[in-house]
Amino acid sequence: MSSKKRNKIRADFRKNRTSRSRQADLTRSFQKDELAADDGVRQERISGKGEVSRKRTVVGTVAAEDDTGFQVRLDVDESQCRAGRVLQVNGLVSTVEDVSGVTYRCATRRLLKTLATDQRHVVVAGDRVLFRSEAANEGVIERVEPRWGVLSRTSQGRQHVIVANVDQVLIVGSAAEPTLKPNLIDRMIVSAEKAGVTPIICVNKIDLVEAADLQPLVGVYSQMGYSVILASAVTGLNLDRLRRQLAGRQTVIAGQSGVGKSSLMNGVDPGLSLRVSSVSRDSQKGRHTTTTSQLIRLNAGGYVVDTPGIRQFQLWDVEPGEVAGFYRDLRPFVHDCRFPDCTHTHEADCAVKNAVADGWLDVRRYESYCQLSDPSGG
Ligand code: GDP
Ligand code: ZN
Repeated sequence: MSSKKRNKIRADFRKNRTSRSRQADLTRSFQKDELAADDGVRQERISGKGEVSRKRTVVGTVAAEDDTGFQVRLDVDESQCRAGRVLQVNGLVSTVEDVSGVTYRCATRRLLKTLATDQRHVVVAGDRVLFRSEAANEGVIERVEPRWGVLSRTSQGRQHVIVANVDQVLIVGSAAEPTLKPNLIDRMIVSAEKAGVTPIICVNKIDLVEAADLQPLVGVYSQMGYSVILASAVTGLNLDRLRRQLAGRQTVIAGQSGVGKSSLMNGVDPGLSLRVSSVSRDSQKGRHTTTTSQLIRLNAGGYVVDTPGIRQFQLWDVEPGEVAGFYRDLRPFVHDCRFPDCTHTHEADCAVKNAVADGWLDVRRYESYCQLSDPSGG
């Protein structure tokens, strides 16, 4: 534990599933100690998980919280630290890249780990961190900065952060081989909207079809305000546009296997040489051996996130009743339904169904909505 007496707070990290008492406890503790946490507090939503109660002594101020637990912004000597970006986490070792592109193998300061509600959330790929380095290419992560654009998924009642600080999701489909699955695109859009991350749609393998045949579909998405890029990794069509779209941002690449994600990335940045599958059919087995998220730096600037588990970009934690809110085209109509809890499927006087009948809404989009919002497993 730190020898600093200053800011020493005994905080009761009570884990309680049924109430959000931890936030109250922490806030009260800080106030009692006249630690107004003036610079640190941004959000204080704290989600308690588990039933365990334990005591910890912490030094610092409450900084930020997301659905994934909470973070405490530790007081660190910033003059001794440098800023970095976590490219990958493997067990206890994080690969951190500094601003000049040099990478370090970093351990994590013990106090940081102590504060985490779940060890897996201490540091994740995409995190911005402050780290201290005393040996070449080695260091210790001293602080994790507040996160935005967090992609996480719940399994067995626990939230798993997959990657942090994501700017956008590139949803890749293929015009053919495998056939385009607009409903899958809709599903991934909903996941992106839920996570608050901008979706960008890319339809690859345009060389295999007549581009004009895709115009109606492109029109539907464009009208909703989404960027749609028709591309071909084979002919190079629109790869420059894709490159510009990825530059300077942290992008998750999603889409079923075989649509050409690796090929597109190799086309955007020939230096990458990602493995491309020799067969074009949809294989169920993952070809990659990595199981953790990895940030890949693009030559033209920006990072793409490669995560085997994120490829399908499932509809994590989206309740059936929430789906309509993530359908930008449906959303304007839902308030005119007769029943406030209208599911827009079987109800009378449903403004959404009327909009479909009157041609205001795309029939296919409506059908994909019905599929996704079906609690019996859409
Ligand atoms: P991933 O699983 O999404 O990463 O897909 P890959 O990049 O491994 O590509 C799957 C297959 O589709 C490979 O056989 C590629 O050669 C082929 N492919 C990728 N992009 C295109 C394209 O634009 N046009 C055509 N015709 N084939 C492509
Ligand atoms: Zn309705």
